[in-house]
Amino acid sequence: MKARKTPLRTCVACGRETDKRALVRIVRDADGYTHVDPGGKAPGRGAYLCAQSACFEAAIGRRRLAPALRASLAEEDVERLRNEFEAAIETDRESSRLGR
Ligand SMILES: [Zn+2]
Repeated sequence: MKARKTPLRTCVACGRETDKRALVRIVRDADGYTHVDPGGKAPGRGAYLCAQSACFEAAIGRRRLAPALRASLAEEDVERLRNEFEAAIETDRESSRLGR
């Protein structure tokens, strides 16, 4: 049996290595703007997090996200990212139910 290789990425919060598709990518683009990248294809420096709030909060609380992105995250950036992240994991649940 030949298993198709799926790319592995490491969650910056818990350090778990997981299938890229099970993770949420956060990216900092060339202008220094950080945002959640649900498609995983946006250009820029990316960091991966497990698709669960606990890892997002851990990455923020332990200050792992900003260095991983080589970005500085103001309070309002964190708020915005949290909303985008929550929306992304919500969509994810939705599409796995639809069998994307
Ligand atoms: Zn994690």
